[in-house]
This record gives sequence, structure tokens and C-alpha cells, in this order.
Amino acid sequence: MNSFEFRIVKKDKNSKARVGVIKTPHGEVSTPVFMPVGTQASVKTLSSEDLKEIGAEMILGNTYHLYLRPGDQLIQKAGGLHKFMSWDRPILTDSGGFQVFSLNSLTKTSEEGVRFQSHLDGSYHLFTPEKVIEIQHALGGDIIMVLDEPVFYPCSFEQAERANQLTSNWAKRCEQAHKELKNKGFKHSQALFGIIQGSTYPELRKNSADALMKLDFPGYAIGGLSLGEPKTTTFEMVDLCISCIPDEKPRYLMGVGTPDDMVEAVSRGIDMFDCVLPTRNARNASLFTRFGRLIIKNSEYAEDFSPIDPECGCSVCKNYSRAYLRHLFNTGEVSALRLATIHSLYFYMDLMRVAKEAILKDSFLEWKTEFLREYQSDEKDEQNNSRSN
Ligand SMILES: [Zn+2]
Repeated sequence: MNSFEFRIVKKDKNSKARVGVIKTPHGEVSTPVFMPVGTQASVKTLSSEDLKEIGAEMILGNTYHLYLRPGDQLIQKAGGLHKFMSWDRPILTDSGGFQVFSLNSLTKTSEEGVRFQSHLDGSYHLFTPEKVIEIQHALGGDIIMVLDEPVFYPCSFEQAERANQLTSNWAKRCEQAHKELKNKGFKHSQALFGIIQGSTYPELRKNSADALMKLDFPGYAIGGLSLGEPKTTTFEMVDLCISCIPDEKPRYLMGVGTPDDMVEAVSRGIDMFDCVLPTRNARNASLFTRFGRLIIKNSEYAEDFSPIDPECGCSVCKNYSRAYLRHLFNTGEVSALRLATIHSLYFYMDLMRVAKEAILKDSFLEWKTEFLREYQSDEKDEQNNSRSN
């Protein structure tokens, strides 16, 4: 039984933006969707109830971190990730590849898989395509990802080509392992997504996409972008990858990003996002608002008794002032991290909600222009792909 489905509800008349619905065994998700990152089976500082109140529809769990601690077997014993963290809505787990390569300098990659040392205790581990599928089956996410070899920027053509070949071979093995495990694991079915790589080389992006399309995954991610390459290149690659993915499949832009980048990507036809920016920045007293970032520790807010954003509907803006939040940060109160996270995540959820409304009314381009006019992007955050924190 395959209960994963993606349906397009409405295509914008003037752009490639679309509103859709992803159906999973843990309920439906409306797209475009932003998935908060719950690295260690927790979105830092928040409870699963908080996430629901903020309006999160689907969250992301990190296979690498959960495999090392507390271990996928323990989570399986608990009844899976949903039960373990008391989250009954959809979950996507990544393959762990990105963390293996970004957190460990001493990885050894071969056709077999990737050997790495734990960043926690230095112990040795091997991730093969079969192993990461087995771990993700134990975790029980609704959407799971293939193991890929991400390359960082800049990267030579030869290196990117070699990684592409491996990614494509691994995708086939993941697909095979997934088929074999399907009937053994959880009662609910899991959808396996492919990941298009190829760095900033159009030819390699196309080759990667073509190889993956043959495997007919129920959805596709675009990986390895927003790693320091020029913004125009990022979106050229996004457009190219999108042109290779059939219209009726969901498209997931991994690790991107900033509100303005997400709005741009939605207009090009991206359906899914994840990024640690709203949560990580919030814990560093940097809040997202529709005017750009607000550094709440700044002295100008010392006697500012207005909310972070008077038009924001989150519980923090309804109840607390900038001066109070600044005070909490300055005195090191842990509640500061939680309140800031609630606001910033709510802002991301609301951004997707408003974008969807505009698409449904065929006014997305007008809305986008207005949003980008008001939003002051911050160069510092422009290139910040990260999926674990
Ligand atoms: Zn707010």
C-alpha cells in the first residue's frame, strides 16, 4: 500500500508558483511548506505542542544525529520517531549524508559507502545506501531520503562528476533496499525521495536529474546549493533542475533558506523547504520580520514597549514587548531563546501561508514584488545552507 500522494491544487497564472497537497500516513501537508528542523528529535527550545500552535505541518529529523544518539534502534523500540517525540504530524528524515560530510573532516568515501568518525566520541561508522535506508525505516519518517555525496562550493568539474556517479549508483541501491524493507518495518508506508546534485555545472545537474528520473521517485530534492555560489547561479541551477522534474512530483530545495530566497524559489516552482536559520538565528537574538532581521539586543529597543512586529499574529508578539525580550536576552534567561524561536518560526509559517493565499488568488507576483520591496535582506545570511544544528 502506498499512501503517499502529491496533488497540485492551483498553478499561478503569472509564475511557476503552485499550491499543492502532500498526503502522508500522518496527515496532509499543504505546499509550499517550510519544515522546521528538529535535529535531535526536537526543534530546539520548543515542545511538539508549541510546534502545532505555531502551525508547523511537517518537521525534519536528522538521521546522522539520531543514529548516533539515542540510536535508531532505541527510537524504533519507542514506536518510531513520531511516538518518541509525541508528534503525530508528518516527518521527513534526511539521509545523514550532509552531516557526515559537513561535520567530519576525516570521511572516506568509496563505492561501498562513506566511512566516518562520530563527532561525539571519535568512534568509526560506515553509512552505506542500504544502512541509511534501514536507519530511516527504524525511525519511521513519512518521507525519507537517499544517501548522496554532497559536494561543497567551489568544486572542480571532475570532483562533481565523480560525486554524481556515486550519488546515482547509491540512489539505485537505496531504492532497492527500500523496496526490500517495505513490508518488514512500520505499518505505515514511507516515500523515498531522490536528490539531484551536480554542483554549479549545468551539464552535471542535468545528468544527475536524468539518472534519478529513471528511478521514478515519488518526489525530488535539489541538493548542494546556497553554499557560497553567486545567487544568480543558485537560481539558474534551481530552474534547470525543476525543468527536469515532472510537474506532478513535489520539489524540495534542501537547506535554503532566507525568507527572500524562499519567496524567489516558490515563484520558480519549489514546494518544500527546510533550514535552521529561523531557529538558530532566534537563539542568537536575531529575529526575522517582514522588514528584515531585527537584532533584539540592540540598545535602541531598551525602552521600546511595542511588540517585535505589531502585525505578527504569534503569541509572543501578542503578549510581550521588544524591551522585555531584550531584557531576557541580556540577563541570559532561557525563556528568551524559546520566545524568540516561537516568533521567528511563526514568521516562516506565516510567510508560506500568505504566499499560498496569493497563488490561489493569482496575485503571487504582485505580492512577491511588494514583499521583496519591504524586506531588507541581510548579506550575512545570504549563503547559509545548513540542515543540522
Ligand atoms: Zn511574532
